[in-house]
Amino acid sequence: METKTVKAYGTEAADAPLKLMSVERREVLPNDVEIEITFCGICHSDLHAAKNDWGGSNYPLVPGHEIVGKVTKVGESVTKFKVGDAAGIGCIVDSCRECEYCREGLEQFCVPGNTIVFGSPDKHLGGQTIGGYSETIVVDENYVLKMPDNLDPATASPLLCGGITTYSPLKHWKVAKGSKVGIVGIGGLGHLAIKIAKAMGGHVTVFTTSLTKVADAKNLGADAAVLSTDKEQMKNLTANFNVILDTVSAKHDVNEYLRLLKVDGSLVLVGLPSEALPVSASNIVHGRRSFSGSNIGGIEETQEMLDFCGEHNITADIEMIRIQDINEAYERLEKSDVKYRFVVDMASLKE
Ligand code: NAP
Ligand code: ZN
Ligand code: ZN
Repeated sequence: METKTVKAYGTEAADAPLKLMSVERREVLPNDVEIEITFCGICHSDLHAAKNDWGGSNYPLVPGHEIVGKVTKVGESVTKFKVGDAAGIGCIVDSCRECEYCREGLEQFCVPGNTIVFGSPDKHLGGQTIGGYSETIVVDENYVLKMPDNLDPATASPLLCGGITTYSPLKHWKVAKGSKVGIVGIGGLGHLAIKIAKAMGGHVTVFTTSLTKVADAKNLGADAAVLSTDKEQMKNLTANFNVILDTVSAKHDVNEYLRLLKVDGSLVLVGLPSEALPVSASNIVHGRRSFSGSNIGGIEETQEMLDFCGEHNITADIEMIRIQDINEAYERLEKSDVKYRFVVDMASLKE
């Protein structure tokens, strides 16, 4: 198969910094779109994978799954995109297209397994897929998203993972006017969850461990903000929420949040700490509460989320960095020290 060598940033090992490397991209197949990447958000999952927090990472690894750019080439059968269009790529770049979940637009649950944009077996080139910290990417048009014209591409890039990962559960658990919604953790996902839940009509309370984010939460649109280490405030909110979305990336006590749910309320995990999270039986038995989870979202729902964010003018609050500064950004992300999403200006990769 014909390929093209492009520049990328990736890592050779769990304990090695990211560095410049050369990678191969396939030439467009009939259904493919080639995109020149202009911006790529940095999700905590990139960091978990690079550091092998979950186990199973293979190296060299090029992360990046909040990708926006411009279409530079299309295959002969492509109908949805033309050269020059703005385009986005999130986590999923292929799936079986035939299983019960793919047929329902739930490619995130594809039974034989979907192809994630980085670190999945590459069906075309062998080896593993290469993510968005690179000059270009080639993806089947069915897995490429249209970016709303009114959104700035840099601040919209985090929607491709952070946006869909929070939109999908908020919609699934039927957040609407008057819903009492809790958001745990104000990072990349959490700050987008505030904006999306507000746009859906929810009354939003955020829980943070960072004192400096308490005041900020209101600027982000939250109705209330709680320092989660304040036991008194936490106790006052017992049995208050219909749904709580937990975006925390590290081990923490979920029982504190289960107790805050009303009858039939659900604590929905989207954060992916590598350690197990113990649940006390009484916290779910009393109040018929649910402890649940949610994984990104399908392609159709991702487009729906982008259009929703376009309509409501929702984008991320970002700190733009050069790719050469990515290791420092990873260190800060590890310490919850970003307001609220790092986005790489991919033009820096050409320097
Ligand atoms: P992030 O920007 O680092 O935000 C995580 C937030 O969690 C931090 O800002 C911090 O908020 C809070 N936090 C961190 N350590 C904590 C601790 N020890 N105790 C309590 N709170 C803590 O990360 P992100 O990109 O939003 O991703 C969040 C998690 O979601 C990651 O685990 C990521 O892998 C996962 N994820 C899952 C999916 C999915 O499909 N389910 C998709 C994308 C990402 P405060 O400073 O406000 O306390
Ligand atoms: Zn992500
Ligand atoms: Zn499938």
